[in-house]
Amino acid sequence: MNISESKRLFAHAQNFIPGGVNSPVRAFRAVGGDPIFIKRADGAFIFDENDNGYIELINSWGPMILGHNHHLIREAVIDAMDSGTSFGAPTAKEIEIAELIVSMVPSVEKVRMVNSGTEATMSAIRVARGYTGRDKFIKMEGHYHGHGDSFLISAGSGAITMGNPDSPGVTKGTAKDTLLAPYNSLEAIEKLVDANKGEIAALILEPVPGNMGLVTPMPGYLEGLREICTREGIVLIFDEVMTGFRLAPGGAQELFGVTPDMTTLGKIIGGGMPVGAYGGKKEIMEHVSPAGPVYQAGTLSGNPIAMAAGLAMLHHLNDHRELYGELLTIGRKIAEGIMKINLELGYNYTVNHLGSMYSLFFSNDPVVDFESAKKSDTVLFGKYFQAMLKRGIYLAPSQFESLFLSTALRDDLITQILQAHRESMIEIHS
Ligand code: PLP
Repeated sequence: MNISESKRLFAHAQNFIPGGVNSPVRAFRAVGGDPIFIKRADGAFIFDENDNGYIELINSWGPMILGHNHHLIREAVIDAMDSGTSFGAPTAKEIEIAELIVSMVPSVEKVRMVNSGTEATMSAIRVARGYTGRDKFIKMEGHYHGHGDSFLISAGSGAITMGNPDSPGVTKGTAKDTLLAPYNSLEAIEKLVDANKGEIAALILEPVPGNMGLVTPMPGYLEGLREICTREGIVLIFDEVMTGFRLAPGGAQELFGVTPDMTTLGKIIGGGMPVGAYGGKKEIMEHVSPAGPVYQAGTLSGNPIAMAAGLAMLHHLNDHRELYGELLTIGRKIAEGIMKINLELGYNYTVNHLGSMYSLFFSNDPVVDFESAKKSDTVLFGKYFQAMLKRGIYLAPSQFESLFLSTALRDDLITQILQAHRESMIEIHS
């Protein structure tokens, strides 16, 4: 495969952009080789600067659940552009999207739009602190909530991938209020709560984490967290930036029937534009400025182009709920196909799968938390990544990421993915 243009651009980019990229994992450091520079994308495919096409299994890290360049979103954006790109003043579209989110996401009674998942989680923690008058919060090891200082402590995603989970620049003073717990252990939460009685404002987690690879909650785990938080007056925050509108129209909270006090959203909510949101119980959200004293603002928040893209996406998902069944079928065909091929070839690697998310871990043990995820053979993953890329399949360039499937993956493409998987597994083990 000729990727000469990507190589040239990457070399050039490094003169002007730190590491040549605008988000660390894009640099392919965890898997070796040079990153692919993308020129365009359509449906299930992205195309690089040499016009090589790749079947997409990341989909812009989640947002493109309908595949790339979907006509409904493109038309909504073009239509909105005719009226100007930013006003910095309220618009009718913001009410429409807020109403739609409230109708779709069980925990959300009021919602504030922001520009990224990072802003959503930073703001949600601030509001939870303002609401409870407490400082500390609990975060799970290996979960990623964006790059706000207080979250960059045992964080997943790029933070593990880059090998510096505790980033320089995060002060000890900030870190001391972030309490860490292993995912899937209610016992650990009880201990933390006991040791910090009356001091914990919030417990934030990815209900189905995707940032240490995909891990699913043990039966009763989310319900148990709900009980503890209610008992202790702790604000339970589900970070559904990845899972919102993906695992079900109402996210993981709808799928598992557990309603948090607050929810953070991103990715799909913007249809590919930079959008995030946080929302929750009215009583809590009434603390947000200007209704209440907790300050949070944004020049481009509720931007009309971004709102148009998000509205087109959410209306489509809300009106076509059968798509979630289709996504589950696509996910099953790929995840079960991979497991079957692995067994035929004599490998017992763990595959975690839920709906349209899955991860293949190069580990023979079950992956239920950060510790077990870290046992994966990341060198072997790097070889697998390159072998798949060479065969035209674009995976997340890290073992510690979930893959995100789209409705654009037709059966013939799934067959190609599985064929590439078989060939890649043989190649990397020979
Ligand atoms: N929360 C979760 C669960 C995420 O997966 C991410 C990003 O991947 C974020 C928050 C941060 O979102 P953003 O990259 O839009 O700032």
